Amino acid sequence: MVAGLAMRVAVISDIHANYHALETVLAEIDAARVDVVWCLGDTVGYGPRPNDCCETVKSRAEQSLVGNHDLVVLGELAVSDFNDEAAAAATWTASVLTEQSRAFLAGLEPCASLDGVELFHASARDPVWEYVLTEEAAHATLELAEAPLVLVGHSHVALALALDGETVAGGLAPGGTEVQLSGRWLLNPGSVGQPRDGDPRAAWLLLDLQRRFAAFHRVAYPIEKTQSEMRERRLPPALAARLERGE
Ligand code: ZN
Repeated sequence: MVAGLAMRVAVISDIHANYHALETVLAEIDAARVDVVWCLGDTVGYGPRPNDCCETVKSRAEQSLVGNHDLVVLGELAVSDFNDEAAAAATWTASVLTEQSRAFLAGLEPCASLDGVELFHASARDPVWEYVLTEEAAHATLELAEAPLVLVGHSHVALALALDGETVAGGLAPGGTEVQLSGRWLLNPGSVGQPRDGDPRAAWLLLDLQRRFAAFHRVAYPIEKTQSEMRERRLPPALAARLERGE
């Protein structure tokens, strides 16, 4: 093993201030004995525990990105880019964010390249905003990136897409999906704190960079605890309701 090179990586993304989901995922990650944790951004926004999530991601993830929700909360992107519910949650988050959380998020970039992997919060074309949910968007990101393996978050949909000649193959990556990473791949781990692929369980991705292997994990967490914290903080009820539907 090359010194300093991560071999087993846990990838998390789109935590969205859902601390119960994050704690549950990290317990599973600890049991999987990984070398490092990477976070693809959107640590805050939507959910009730932004500061606890910032503190935990800061202490647990060796590499973190900033996402569009993080940037709106920091005031670096306009809140008018959001729908009403996302905007209300972002405004509330900005009002409770501590200096430490703010400093943590403000120090992050929306993309990174390490250990032969390229990481984007959203896409290579637009690291902050573009959703990679079509073959065309996946193709564009794989063309722009140079590393064989590309990781994106942002859509909250777990995906495993391979570049096969000029076409993109693959699709949704439900819990239990395992792929052998020969050739070029684009993976989205799914969302820890607000899954939108119909499975409400928290998502994370295990990468073995030595064996070129990826495994998509889902884990049930106490959704009702996060929902009651959202009610206590008067966050939009629709944001709490969507958690149990995974949408
Ligand atoms: Zn997000």
